[in-house]
This record gives sequence, C-alpha cells and structure tokens, in this order.
Amino acid sequence: MAKREYFGDFGGRFIPETLEYPLRELDRAYRKYSRNKAFQDELKFYLSRYAGRPSPLYFAKNLSKEFKLRIYLKREDLLHTGAHKINNALGQALLAVKMKKERIIAETGAGQHGVATATVAALFGKKCDVYMGKVDIQRQRMNVFRMRLLGTRVLEVTSGSQTLKDACNEALRDWVTNVENTYYLLGSTVGPYPYPLIVRDLQAVIGKEARKQILKAEKRLPDYLVACVGGGSNSLGLFHPFFKDRKVKFLGVEAKGKGYLGHHASSLIKGSVGMLHGSKSYVLQDKFGQIEEAYSVAAGLDYPGVGPEHSYYKKIKRARYVGVSDKEALQGFKMLSELEGIIPALESAHAAAYLKNLSRSAKKNSIVVMCLSGRGDKDLEIVNEFI
Ligand SMILES: *Cc1c(COP(=O)(O)O)cnc(C)c1O
Repeated sequence: MAKREYFGDFGGRFIPETLEYPLRELDRAYRKYSRNKAFQDELKFYLSRYAGRPSPLYFAKNLSKEFKLRIYLKREDLLHTGAHKINNALGQALLAVKMKKERIIAETGAGQHGVATATVAALFGKKCDVYMGKVDIQRQRMNVFRMRLLGTRVLEVTSGSQTLKDACNEALRDWVTNVENTYYLLGSTVGPYPYPLIVRDLQAVIGKEARKQILKAEKRLPDYLVACVGGGSNSLGLFHPFFKDRKVKFLGVEAKGKGYLGHHASSLIKGSVGMLHGSKSYVLQDKFGQIEEAYSVAAGLDYPGVGPEHSYYKKIKRARYVGVSDKEALQGFKMLSELEGIIPALESAHAAAYLKNLSRSAKKNSIVVMCLSGRGDKDLEIVNEFI
C-alpha cells in the first residue's frame, strides 16, 4: 500500500474488496478538490457566513488567574450547531456535491455528528440517512429529534452493543450497496484511508486560525496545546498546524470513565495496536482481538478506537496523552461554567479539567491554548444527575 495511506505504521485501508472502488473514487475526488481554488473559496464562504468562522481565541482571565497560566480558549462552541463537527461536515458535503452524489449517509453516537450531517444535507438539498445505535437513540433523544426536524431519517441499529461502533459497521454496509449515488460522511479522523486525512485537513482550520490569533495576542507561539481526544478530530485540527513547531507541546486528553478498573475510553493510554473500522491504530480489545466496549460520561468520547495519526504522534512522542475521569470532567464542567460563564460540552470539559494537573507541572505563566470543542446544552440533563 502507498505510503501516503499511512501515518508511520498506522492507518491504511483494511477493508473488504467491495469498498476499494468507493474509497479510491473518494481519494481521487479529494485530491482534486483539496487543491482547487474555487472549491476552497466556496468552503471558506460557508465556513464563515454559515458556520461563523473564524471562531474567537478568548483569553480566559479568571481561569488564568486560578491556575497561574495564560489560558486561551479556542471557541469552537460558538459555531453553528455548537461544535467543531460542522467544519468537517461542511467540507465533506461540498465534496459530495462535486461528486454528484444525491444521498448522504453517516454514523453517529451522541448524535452530534448526525446533527451536523443532517444540517449540511438540508443546506445542500441532499437526502440523508443517519445510522444510530438503539441505546444511543434512547440516550440522545433531543439530537434524534433535531435530525428529524432537519429532514433526515434516523435508522436504528440493533446489532452488537447498539452503539457507535455498530452504527459505523452499518453505515459501511449501506455504502457498499449504494455507492453509485451515496456519499459516506464520516465524522472523525478514523476509518480507512483517506478519511483520517480528509477529516484532519478539514479540521486543521482550528489550528491555522489559532496559530495566527495567538501570534497576534502574545507575539509568540504557545507552550502547550490541550484538547480532548475521542476519535481525534478536534485535537488533530488544533495540533496539526503546529506539528513542526517542536517547542509547542501537545496534550491529548482521553476519557478515563469511572477509572481504569472498569470501562473507559482511553485507547491510546490503555489500548493496544489493532484493527478497527478499516484502519490500524490503538484500540480497546481483549487478548483475542475482540473490540471491547468503551465508556465515558461524555458520549462524544465513547469510541473504542482513535485516529491513526494520534497513534503515530504517540509513537514518535510528538504528543503526550493523559486521562481524565468522569468525576474530574464534571468538576471541569462546573469550573468553566462558574469561572468564565461558559458552559462547555462534557467532552471539552475533559480538556478543561486537565488544566488543573497542568498547572502543577508547567512553568508559571506558560501560554496554553485549549480547544473548547463544543457547548454544553446537549449535556444538561446528564450533568443535572450528578450535581
Ligand atoms: C464529537 C465530539 C468530540 C470528540 O470527537 P473528536 O473527533 O475527538 O474531536 C469532542 N467534543 C465535542 C463537543 C464533540 O461533539
């Protein structure tokens, strides 16, 4: 397999023969349009006028004072639909338009990617079906309702654990059958090549903006970048444009769940190298290679694998990965709400919670850029049970 399909030893395209053709077609289209100025201008237009980019880089003065750091928040929570997922959804939907696909499908766990996909499908007048596990449909009723309001069909998945990984399997199965007219809009930096690359490129707008903004504000690059890691898209989006700035340290925060004795979602910290959804990366698996169930209070981190590029960053030690428990994340949630007047998504609250640990080891007044990947409206019911 070609080198460009890998990040070091990770990634690739471990898929049934039937998916070769659609993935190649996608790769060709992406290569063409990622270099096409008219396409990039159109994407820029939608990112700014429809989604609300550039997102602000906000100096969080109260948090900064609390932790004796200089903390900046990259405000992806202020975008349309409330999270960074819209960056990817817009880019891929535009690609679907260029590829003349009349139908879009997607998988979703918490429903955030489903809502972003349903939104762009409405925007571009495409038929849309979203696969979602039965358990998730029950847990995330409001997002199911949103998708339906946007004109999307939510298809219930009753196989396996009836959650995200099963929804991914079903979406891939659908794609094989309907590849002529269907675009599969994958939600994170996971899956077979070229998805991890496409999604990372589309999310890199986060880091490109942040780099300019911090240089303007501080006249120098940050000491640390901090972001939560589910599949890995908001973190890679922030990290990637700083890859060559060796002095900028990357911290990826995984979900420890209730602690490492039970279920969690820390593929990089506690997993091992394996195969999931067509790519080679760190995954949660038993000694027979059976995928284990992931768990986190933040539904968006609840995935038993992670993007291959993160596995590469781990291997070359470009990034460090740390864990935050449900309990700590809920404290992070409260802290950000009370100190800054910003109610974060529970996923982003994992990154916020880690600031406390960082303040113990980092030099005083270190500059930190944290990705605030989404807003917390979707999580109020869950948080209410705990606080
Ligand atoms: C989906 C989601 C995440 C996790 O996904 P990544 O691909 O790791 O970014 C994080 N934060 C929010 C708000 C999400 O919706």
